Amino acid sequence: MLSLPQMLGNVSKAHVQSVEDWARSVTGVLRDAAIYHEARNGFYRAQCDALGVDPAAINDINDLQDLPLLPVGMFKRPDAQVLLTCSLADIETETRSSGTRGVPSVAPRNSETLTLALVGLIGTYREFFSLSGGAGLFLNPSDPEASEMGLLKDLNILNCVFDHHTYLAADQAFDAREALEHLRRWKGHMTRHIVGPPFLIGLLLRFLEREKVNVRLDPYSMIITLGGWKRHTAEAIPDEGFRGRCHDSLGVRAENVRDMYGMVESNMLAVECHLHRKHVPPWCYISIRDPGQNGKELAPGETGTIAVLDALSTSYPGFLLTDDIGDVETGTCGCGRTGQVINFRRRGQGDGLGHCPVSIERYLGSGTTAEAEAPALVKA
Ligand SMILES: [Zn+2]
Repeated sequence: MLSLPQMLGNVSKAHVQSVEDWARSVTGVLRDAAIYHEARNGFYRAQCDALGVDPAAINDINDLQDLPLLPVGMFKRPDAQVLLTCSLADIETETRSSGTRGVPSVAPRNSETLTLALVGLIGTYREFFSLSGGAGLFLNPSDPEASEMGLLKDLNILNCVFDHHTYLAADQAFDAREALEHLRRWKGHMTRHIVGPPFLIGLLLRFLEREKVNVRLDPYSMIITLGGWKRHTAEAIPDEGFRGRCHDSLGVRAENVRDMYGMVESNMLAVECHLHRKHVPPWCYISIRDPGQNGKELAPGETGTIAVLDALSTSYPGFLLTDDIGDVETGTCGCGRTGQVINFRRRGQGDGLGHCPVSIERYLGSGTTAEAEAPALVKA
C-alpha cells in the first residue's frame, strides 16, 4: 500500500500496483483526505452528519461511495466560500472557467494544494508522454473560448519538459500560417509537439487540408489535447478520425495523439496511454452515479454522472459531483497500468446543479457554523 507522498514521488510505480494494492492505496489516501476535511470544514461535517458517515470508518474501496459529494455547480455561487476547508487568507489562486453557459466556476486553491497538484501533473505527464526536450507549439484559445482556463494552466505546465516552446494566442482569427512557420523553423533542430484544445488543432488540420500543405513532423512528435470542442461542436471530429487526420496531415503517429480529461474544479487529470485509454491518477477515484439518484453508485461499465474523489485538495473537499456523463473500468489496461480508466461521454445538461444533504442556506441559517469560520464568511 502506498501513501500519498509515495504515489507523488513515484507516479510510475503507483500506476503498476496490483489491483488489490491500488484499491487499498486509493482507499487509504481518500480516507485520510475525508478525515482531514471532516475535522476542519463545518459544512462538510454537516454533510457527513446528515448522511451518518464517519470518514474514519472507511476501510474498503466500496465504502468510498458513501462520502458526501459537493455538486460542482456550488462553485458558481457567490457564497461558495462556505465550501472552503482552509481560510480565505490561505488562497493562492482562483481558477475560473468562463463556462459555455453563463456564470463562471471559481475554484480556489491554497499553496499546499497547488504544490501537490503541480507535482502530480509533472509526474503524470512524464509517466504518459515520456517527454524530455523538444519544442512545444501551444495553441491557446483566447477568452471567451478559454472556458477551461485552469486546464490551460495544466497544459502550460507541460512547457517545463520542453527545451523550447511558443504560445500562439489563437481564436477565430487563428493564424494557421504562423503555426506552420514555427513548425518549419524548428524542423531538423528539435522534435516538434503540438498542444491545445481539439477545436484549434482541428482548425490547423483544416487549413493544411485546404491548402494542400503536407507537413511531416518527427518520429516522436506528439499532439496533446485537452478541453473538448466547446461551441465548435458542429466541427467536432470523432477521436479515431481526428487521430487519422493528424497522421495524414502532420505525419504524427496515431498512438502519439493523446487526449486528456479534467475540469477546473478538480486536480484530477486523466491522461491517455498509447492505447487511448484515459487513466485516472492513483490518488483519485471515479464513482459513476445514477443520474436520477446521485447517492447511488452504478456498477462498473454502466454510464452515469461522473463523481471525482481527489486526495490532493486541502483548500476544499475534493469530492465532487460533476455534470459530466461517462463510465469507468477497473483492472489492468493493455499498457500494463492498473486502476481506473474513464470514458467521458458528454457534458451533462444540469449545469452542475445537485443537492447536498444540507444546503448552504440551511447550513448558514442554522447557526451551526463554528465561531472560527465566521470571520472568513464576513470577510468575503
Ligand atoms: Zn493504458
